[in-house]
Amino acid sequence: MATPKCFICSQQVVGLNGQDTVLDTFFLHSTRDDKLALSEQAFGECHLLCLTESAWGVFWGSRIVANLRDVRKYRVLFADDEYQMLRNDIAHETSIIRWDGWMASVQDRLFEERRPVADGHLLPVHHEARTYLNGHDDLITGLRGALLADGTYPLKQLIAALGLTDRLLYPQAIEGGTLRRCTYSSAPKNPIAIDDNGTFVMAEISYSQFIPDDVARMLIEHVGKSP
Ligand SMILES: [Zn+2]
Repeated sequence: MATPKCFICSQQVVGLNGQDTVLDTFFLHSTRDDKLALSEQAFGECHLLCLTESAWGVFWGSRIVANLRDVRKYRVLFADDEYQMLRNDIAHETSIIRWDGWMASVQDRLFEERRPVADGHLLPVHHEARTYLNGHDDLITGLRGALLADGTYPLKQLIAALGLTDRLLYPQAIEGGTLRRCTYSSAPKNPIAIDDNGTFVMAEISYSQFIPDDVARMLIEHVGKSP
């Protein structure tokens, strides 16, 4: 796997839930716009901030909605000029897509754990991630030292060292976020490793997904969870 780069700004994409997304070519149809997206290489990993500020946001928003509704047969919970909400009943998950390409998928279980903050809610996120560190020698040294010593490293510091702070849509969602050494039994002793694409850190990361107030209200109303 090559270092993921945003097709809009060409900077690295770490793959944070709520900040980044992946737009696969299997979402595409066969119209002129879709062929243009292919020829312009306007697909793949991207920052949600870049997508919603770009001319591709509206196009991709419509393609994601069409796929979830017509191919995956998600149930349409709500639709107006601004938002589409689609429901995967089996996964207990709701996808919300805004007209400009902003999108979020929210599991009922995590929505119930939401914490109110200014203008929205924070939902807990935990997953494992491989993050490439090529060209950031000081970061590699610092990360290796921190993860081997006390086992954690601030996510905010990693994002800053990679030069990606200004690509965050919701900086508050990674405040207090951490990287931790993987705890599964076969996890490598050294969290920093090298493959064909360079040096990477393999770690469990914890942070939050930010859900704006208007989306949270729609979820409460249409999914039926109590506030
Ligand atoms: Zn970008």
